[in-house]
Amino acid sequence: MSDYEAFRARARTWLQSVAGEFGREARRGLDVEQDLALGRRYLAARFDAGFAGINWPTGMGGQGLTHIEKVIFDTEEMGFGMPTAYFGISLGMPVPILMRFCEDKAFVKERVLKALRGEEIWCQLFSEPAGGSDLAGLRTRAEVDGNGWKLNGQKVWTSWAQYCDYGVIVARTDPTVPKHKGLTYYWVDMKAPGVEVRPIKLAGGDSHVNEVFFDDVRLEDSQRMSPVGGGFAVAMATLMIERYVATDSGGFGPHLDLFVDLARDVEVNGRPAIEDGRVRSQIARNHAMRAGLESITTRAMLMMQAGMEPGPEGSLNKLVAVRSRQKLSELAIDLQGNAGLAFDPHASQKENWTASWLNAPTGRIAGGADEMLLNTIAERILGLPQDHRPDKGVPFNQIPA
Ligand SMILES: Cc1cc2nc3c(=O)[nH]c(=O)nc-3n(C[C@H](O)[C@H](O)[C@H](O)COP(=O)(O)OP(=O)(O)OC[C@H]3O[C@@H](n4cnc5c(N)ncnc54)[C@H](O)[C@@H]3O)c2cc1C
Repeated sequence: MSDYEAFRARARTWLQSVAGEFGREARRGLDVEQDLALGRRYLAARFDAGFAGINWPTGMGGQGLTHIEKVIFDTEEMGFGMPTAYFGISLGMPVPILMRFCEDKAFVKERVLKALRGEEIWCQLFSEPAGGSDLAGLRTRAEVDGNGWKLNGQKVWTSWAQYCDYGVIVARTDPTVPKHKGLTYYWVDMKAPGVEVRPIKLAGGDSHVNEVFFDDVRLEDSQRMSPVGGGFAVAMATLMIERYVATDSGGFGPHLDLFVDLARDVEVNGRPAIEDGRVRSQIARNHAMRAGLESITTRAMLMMQAGMEPGPEGSLNKLVAVRSRQKLSELAIDLQGNAGLAFDPHASQKENWTASWLNAPTGRIAGGADEMLLNTIAERILGLPQDHRPDKGVPFNQIPA
């Protein structure tokens, strides 16, 4: 058994041992607050078991292993439906960036340990009404205020902001230079005076995304994590930090075997749907496509094991998997007739086709909209010319609003 296989077996054994307390079945029927509380307890247990911060330095409470072990653990963990969603962004991007770019190491260590144990949560305050795909278009501004800064503006779609203690934020500090050059990167205390979080209700019934307003929020200069005007590079480092993460060829929706079960249970023209040629063809197409995506993931893992960097083909994964999940969920709803329209606000999008279909559009936007991923594939895999960028080199305050 290779070291990686041994690690996988050890992780699986531990996950199985706590699945009854924290896994899918234990979470059924819990509201968000109860589920979050369970999630915090799960993170503490994961920390104590030595599976927290797998590829982070041991001096910071991590395990000092490689990115491969991290992907292996995350992939195994995903299968058990543990309550980890609240901490995904926090531990995925903001906290690693804090470790890398914040100079006050005692402060960093305290935050890292609390985040790893689920005691504190960080959000990522990048997107704004005028700056999503084009992050450099953002308008939230930070102005010099004595020996610190004064922050004003609005962010949007901030996941879990209502439960967060801290966030990382990019703000415009100089509107007179081209858009990428006038940005600065800070951490912000989400409980500071002037910070207001307003949850947004999504079609699926949950409110995990928020609008966040900043009204004269005071930032100390020690909260700055980039050179003044050098925030875009740190923002890119934030987005690049996890080049290859655990992926799910089911597009984070129900797996194909659940569709096969459904097709056995429901009827088309008086016969089990599984006997219908069009349904069989969809099963075969999805099986082939998901097997293809799994091969891409396996190849990326092998490249990492060989010390190489996986390439941009990872962008294919989310694009194809979430689009196909949306279509398959639609077919599953159709096959159920009226029953397919029944809405259960507590249903899991990994088990329930209606919940999966309702949530799929957000999956096609978050973490890079389909069109942006198509651009990445066009430019970086197919080598096509870059998109037209009419505001390149133009001072931000001269770009028509
Ligand atoms: C569930 C969810 C959670 C999120 N969580 C967070 C979070 O925690 N923190 C955070 O900062 N953000 C978060 N976001 C925001 C997310 O990153 C943005 O929604 C995303 O970057 C798209 O930006 P936008 O919504 O402004 O759309 P826009 O950028 O305005 O795009 C609108 C449409 O135009 C297309 N488009 C835009 N530019 C181009 C182009 N150059 N070429 C081709 N097509 C283009 C897009 O693909 C899209 O279809 C979240 C979003 C969702 C849905």
